[in-house]
Amino acid sequence: MAEKINVNASGALTVPNNPIIPFIIGDGIGPDIWKAAVRVFDEGVKKAYAAERQIIWKEILAGQKAYDETGSWLPEETIAAMRDYVVSIKGPLTTPVGGGIRSLNVAIRQKLDLFVCQRPLFWIEGVPSPVKHPENVNMVIFRENTEDIYAGIEFEATSEQALNLKGYLTSQFGVDYPFKDETALGIKPVSKEGSVRLIRAAIDYAIKQQQPSVSLVHKGNIMKFTEGAFKNWGYELAESEYGDQVFTWNQWERLKATEGEEVANKVLQQAQQAGKVIIKDVIADNFLQQILLNPKDYAVIATLNLNGDYISDALAAIVGGIGIAPGANINYHSGHAVFEATHGTAPRFANTDSMNPSSVILSGTMMFDYIGWHEASALIKTALAKTIYKKEVTVDFYNQMEGATLLKTSEFADAIIGNINS
Ligand code: NAD
Repeated sequence: MAEKINVNASGALTVPNNPIIPFIIGDGIGPDIWKAAVRVFDEGVKKAYAAERQIIWKEILAGQKAYDETGSWLPEETIAAMRDYVVSIKGPLTTPVGGGIRSLNVAIRQKLDLFVCQRPLFWIEGVPSPVKHPENVNMVIFRENTEDIYAGIEFEATSEQALNLKGYLTSQFGVDYPFKDETALGIKPVSKEGSVRLIRAAIDYAIKQQQPSVSLVHKGNIMKFTEGAFKNWGYELAESEYGDQVFTWNQWERLKATEGEEVANKVLQQAQQAGKVIIKDVIADNFLQQILLNPKDYAVIATLNLNGDYISDALAAIVGGIGIAPGANINYHSGHAVFEATHGTAPRFANTDSMNPSSVILSGTMMFDYIGWHEASALIKTALAKTIYKKEVTVDFYNQMEGATLLKTSEFADAIIGNINS
């Protein structure tokens, strides 16, 4: 019998054997990759649990399809279903031009307050990469999803608001900045509450998954009261809430000041050996170097919205590009989660049955892990890796591999299904 996933007051899920999971098919290449992915999901579940478990898929509308059928890009019923059924999955959506919606994805994240954008970045053997050792990248990014310069509070250079705001900043706040005539202004809200809930989710994840560290990535050297505060709140949270489970670089600094560097290093080493999560920080521009030079030093990343956007794509490029990088938007308090392909609609390739469905397939495996169906997740991931290892790939990888077999999107799904059953 089809049933809803339930969630209790602390965000813990109760998952029935036949959960109803809403999906948005997506625009552009969305239908091609969804049709491929859903067959893989169903096969993985069947193989893992036989007749005992099955996902009951429920289509909900957003994007062009929603607009054509209902006149709305993001119908209220869609958000209501995502809220009601707790966990959902989506393909890429067109950003409507005009009409007052900046991005449907941003609207979904805001309406459900999905404050974590979670992106695991790992390399699958055989995937073409521009670096020599992509296998050294194994990170999970926790990107703050609701604040920062992405909040959408900005004013056009020629607007009255920008003019007034400039005047206000100068006259009321004594801002000493030589504003030029046509200056656009943007506001960067970063709250303690928003930062702490994101960093808490990252630390909880690191502890649960036995990860060695959480790195707070920020530009606090320049933006002291926003990005600098993010870092400080992170250290405060780690020390006040996690006690012995973590060791922070702030604690190391304090020890160094009182006991000397040797003692501080020894305590750090003991903490690492004891399996404590090391909480550290790194400035964002340096981090972009570090992911190329020393990626092994990083495991779980907690960062603000804009940094997270850049970092996710840079890391995705290292491990194979947006055709394979999965993602999720999660509210760890309410339990609401939307899993999604991280690439866009690639409209030029719509209905060509040629694009790579790996991003949405791996997003689905994240979803299975989220609902506790780890066996299905592992089976699908292994079968996908096997398919790529055998060099049976879609055009994006085919063009960069020697001796590969070119498969259509649907054939790639067939190959994965074959490997699930082999
Ligand atoms: P895009 O990701 O759609 O495509 C850029 C290029 O990446 C494509 O031309 C293609 O070469 C490659 N690519 C993308 N997905 C691929 C896949 N699955 N397999 C192989 N190659 C793939 O980015 P864009 O062209 O900047 O954006 C197109 C539309 O998508 C815009 O309307 C944009 O707003 C929207 N978009 C949506 C999302 C989302 O829904 N999460 C994300 C980004 C962009």
